[in-house]
Amino acid sequence: MTPEFDLIQQFFSRATTQTDLGVGDDSALISITHGMQLAISADMLVAGTHFFADCDAFQLGWKSLAVNVSDMAAMGAQPKWATLAIALPDVNPAWLDQFSGGFFSCANQFSVDLIGGDTTRGPLTISIQIMGEVPIGKAIKRSGAQLHDDIWVSGQLGSAALGLAYLQKNHLNSSLNADDIANCLQALNAPTPRIALGLSLRGIATSNIDISDGLLADLGHILRASNFGATLNLEAIPCIEVLKTSIQNPITQNYVLAAGDDYELCFTAPKSARKIIESIAQQINCPVSLVGEIHIGNDLKVMYQNRQLNISKKGFDHFG
Ligand code: ADP
Ligand code: MG
Repeated sequence: MTPEFDLIQQFFSRATTQTDLGVGDDSALISITHGMQLAISADMLVAGTHFFADCDAFQLGWKSLAVNVSDMAAMGAQPKWATLAIALPDVNPAWLDQFSGGFFSCANQFSVDLIGGDTTRGPLTISIQIMGEVPIGKAIKRSGAQLHDDIWVSGQLGSAALGLAYLQKNHLNSSLNADDIANCLQALNAPTPRIALGLSLRGIATSNIDISDGLLADLGHILRASNFGATLNLEAIPCIEVLKTSIQNPITQNYVLAAGDDYELCFTAPKSARKIIESIAQQINCPVSLVGEIHIGNDLKVMYQNRQLNISKKGFDHFG
């Protein structure tokens, strides 16, 4: 047995529950449920770009899968299977134990089978492909927003950015208490993808996206795909108290509007759906906030105290 084979056996081979053939053969085998479409997405995390190389390995394992699960939430798909391609600078069993622990804890929580992957030596890089199922024609796409639709956001925005700023010793830190720090680091390092919300929004939301690069950038994707403009109300955007009380500060505005890594959902729906959306949110215990409206045009305006904000930075762009 090669060490690579041992490593895969030890850390990445677990019993599956919805897979015909999992890790160990030249390919995995899955059967798609009748009447369902396969939803497929991939996300790559590179040390130094997406995470600190010395970050907590358990949280990294969780987050690597969670950001992929979040893409399924955005489509209204039920996540089911994932593959994991990983490049490791060395074989560190303690690190791998933690990493796979975090990965599988996310996998168990969202019923995802790890069905295969690839393991190689190289600069720490994690590349995951996730597959899920959605009833044929029922996926929630970016292109479906309609004129005068409401714009909604789940959870709170800006916490992950504030967590990152805290780690980077940014100047807002002085106002953070221990609870804020814990919550923001949790948001940054171990986001919870909004699967229950994504599934409940099938047939209700006209468009949906998960916020990975900041609200302005990601809502911008919906607007471009749907051929509309929008107005956001800054005061309505949900965020933790310390951000709310400093919302007149451009740095705070940047956290809330333009920083990445929140993994909340931004979706549009007709005004007639307000009651049902609020009752869904209550049932699944996922807060949602009405933050704006779709209008004609192609511009994205942000209003604050009845004045239009001057928006300069429109979200995180890896090639910007
Ligand atoms: P091959 O050389 O045929 O690609 P590998 O030795 O790369 O086979 O992988 C052996 C088995 O282990 C395959 O089923 C593959 O999908 C799986 N595998 C490899 N690396 C990982 C990983 N990091 N996580 C999950 N499964 C993996
Ligand atoms: Mg291989």
